[in-house]
Amino acid sequence: MANAPVQRMSQLMAKTLRDDPADAEVLSHKLLVRAGYVRRTAAGMWSWLPLGKKVLANVERIVREEMDAIGAQEVLLPALLPREPYDATGRWDEYGQELFRLKDRKGGDYLLGPTHEEIFTLLVKDQCTSYKDLPVILYQIQTKFRDEARPRAGILRGREFQMKDSYSFDLADEGLAHSYALHREAYQKIFTRLGLDYRICAATAGAMGGSESEEFLAPAAAGEDTFADCPNCDFAANTEAMTYALKPVDAEGVPAPEDIPTPDTPTIETLAASLGVPASATLKNLLVKVDGEIVAVGVPGDREVDLDKVEAHFAPAVVEMVTEADFAGRPDLVRGYVGPQGLPKVKYVADPRVAPGTAWITGANKADTHARNVVAGRDFEVDAYLDVVVVQDGDPCPKCGTGIELDRAIEIGHIFQLGRKYTDALKLDVLGQNGKPVRVTMGSYGVGVSRAVAALAEQTADDKGLCWPKEIAPADVHVVAAGKARQTELALDISDKLAAAGVRVLVDDRAGVSPGVKFTDSELIGVPTILVAGRRAAEGVVELKDRRTGEREELPVDEAIARLTA
Ligand code: ATP
Ligand code: MG
Repeated sequence: MANAPVQRMSQLMAKTLRDDPADAEVLSHKLLVRAGYVRRTAAGMWSWLPLGKKVLANVERIVREEMDAIGAQEVLLPALLPREPYDATGRWDEYGQELFRLKDRKGGDYLLGPTHEEIFTLLVKDQCTSYKDLPVILYQIQTKFRDEARPRAGILRGREFQMKDSYSFDLADEGLAHSYALHREAYQKIFTRLGLDYRICAATAGAMGGSESEEFLAPAAAGEDTFADCPNCDFAANTEAMTYALKPVDAEGVPAPEDIPTPDTPTIETLAASLGVPASATLKNLLVKVDGEIVAVGVPGDREVDLDKVEAHFAPAVVEMVTEADFAGRPDLVRGYVGPQGLPKVKYVADPRVAPGTAWITGANKADTHARNVVAGRDFEVDAYLDVVVVQDGDPCPKCGTGIELDRAIEIGHIFQLGRKYTDALKLDVLGQNGKPVRVTMGSYGVGVSRAVAALAEQTADDKGLCWPKEIAPADVHVVAAGKARQTELALDISDKLAAAGVRVLVDDRAGVSPGVKFTDSELIGVPTILVAGRRAAEGVVELKDRRTGEREELPVDEAIARLTA
């Protein structure tokens, strides 16, 4: 491979900024814009400038190498897709508002691909007809489109973004498990090579221990996911996937329910205080509307309801909060005093903590009145148990019972054993060994390629700026010419020698820019090694600086070159 030419900052389109962009909320957004890697084009849409494009390409290269290594074959499908396959799987509607839908000049419906399960399934249906054609793993690195509700996190959450998506097609469950395991290992290699700190977390709350779907989460303050980590065992899960075991208890001996007058207790706190009980002894009942129908959600009084979980459970139905108007004409619903006993016409879902046999203080369905000794399963029925409470620090680990710890993280990858959902909908069969058709089973796997760039920035940056791991950095060495003609001459000479030896060089040869600004920029840009042709250039002595540790050393030019090309 030809050596890369020296990148000269005098010619590079990479304007650094002193100040954070006004709309930036997260560190990676601020730094990637300030260091001249990306520019915002519109909400959730980003342009990659030369330095950014290099970093993105480095991530892509690593992803590509590790996918190729497991025998996956790279393809490229269109991003503009027809409606019909997405109708066949139901996703045209189910995907909701995140899907970009559009029409062509003839009025035909199209979409911009958010992921490509349908199209890959059809491609394999077209290409693979016999058991001999399987297994196969296909991947692409491509632009994806999702009309995200809150594209506020810069590159971390684009409405247009780069993803590596792959799909495995196998004849049997064991094959799928193998393809999944191959991906899991490839992802471990990818994220390790990228230099990301990450955890593999259960993403679905399966009885099998969640192995059918796992997420790769990179701990970072800017993360929008929360994961639970057990300090005692190897349990780690996205809190979205955590379930609390239903543990029925014996209600024998609990007296019959009785009303208690409770004026002036508008909140759980005031109620618990006036009765001298902990909030956890009370049952609060949140009313929501699911596709217009009122549903009550019961959780212990000390817990918060996670509306995302409620929505996820009822999706694609639309979940809304009840309003004043919804109480009109409903004498059975007494605002602030709702209890599940005596609500026969309202569907009741509850957290597993409201297990059969547990006794509660809850609303008596009368103004200013609560009821005590209200027992689940005896005094009211739970139509469905749902994990809907916000997981808290210290909740018991589902595996060993130790108090879990919560951390914020960025989802950088997701692997998923889909099974036959898509192959059933699109009727993907191949002829089996016995001549009979076999329904193919499928896995789908994603890496957030552009998101990984931002996640790396989040995890590696310091107060001076970006700080890339070597394999990802836009150059290996950032040569700074302090300013005088002789220094520039030396810097360019060193740069050429390094480049000739295969080192990727970025040289700051800008005229009329002060040395101070150049040093600050070199730290902001974050190339791992900085070489300064400065004060002692005339003697043939340069300074080498490690961007991460800040360690500096003065040494003769030849030695510096020898070190950097070793
Ligand atoms: P999230 O919960 O963050 O929206 P997701 O569950 O929708 O992610 P997948 O559908 O599993 O994500 O997509 C595969 C990968 O693509 C994710 O693991 C993530 O790294 C990346 N990704 C998803 N949405 C975006 C986005 N809007 N911008 C950048 N990367 C994204
Ligand atoms: Mg998403």
